[in-house]
Amino acid sequence: MRRHLILLSDIPGEGRTFILDDPAIWQGPLQDFAMDCRISRPLRARLTLLPADDGCLVRGRIDGEVILSCNRCAEDAVVAVNADFENFEEFPGRDDSALESENRILYENTTPMLDLNAICWEEFVLALPVAPLCSDDCKGLCAVCGANLNVENCSCRRDEGDPRFSVLRGVVLRKP
Ligand SMILES: [Zn+2]
Ligand SMILES: [Zn+2]
Repeated sequence: MRRHLILLSDIPGEGRTFILDDPAIWQGPLQDFAMDCRISRPLRARLTLLPADDGCLVRGRIDGEVILSCNRCAEDAVVAVNADFENFEEFPGRDDSALESENRILYENTTPMLDLNAICWEEFVLALPVAPLCSDDCKGLCAVCGANLNVENCSCRRDEGDPRFSVLRGVVLRKP
C-alpha cells in the first residue's frame, strides 16, 4: 500500500485536496483488526488540507458501501457510507519533549506530517453505525430457540415482560 504522508510545509496556504481510493487503505486495517466488515462498493475519500500555524484543518468526505453484521439477526446489513467530517489536527510544538513518543506524525527534521491513510481509516470507522440493521423493521432472533424471525415463526413463548420484545409482541398479537 502506498503511504500518504504529507508534509505540512508542502501544503500551500490556500490548501490542497487529495483523493484517496486505494482499497488497501481500508482493507488492510479491516484484516488487521479482524473486523466483520466487507467492502461492497469501493470506498473513496476526499480530503482538503488547510494549513494553520499550529496544525492543519482537515475537511473531507468518505463515500462507499460496506456489509456489516445485523445487530438483531446477524445476517448481512448493507450500510451506505456517506460521511462529511472536519477536524483540526494540532501538531506538537517543535520543542515539545513529548515529540519522540508521537513521532507517527513527525519527519526527521521535526517538520510535521499528516498520515492521510490513518485519517481515512479513522473517519471511516467513525462513520459506521454502532448498531447496523439489515432493515429498520428487522425482527431479530428468537431469544429462546434462536430462529431468525424474519424468515420463520417459532412457537416459543417469549417473556412478554421484557421490553426488548415490545416490537415482537405486536407481531405475535397479529397472528391468527
Ligand atoms: Zn436483521
Ligand atoms: Zn423460538
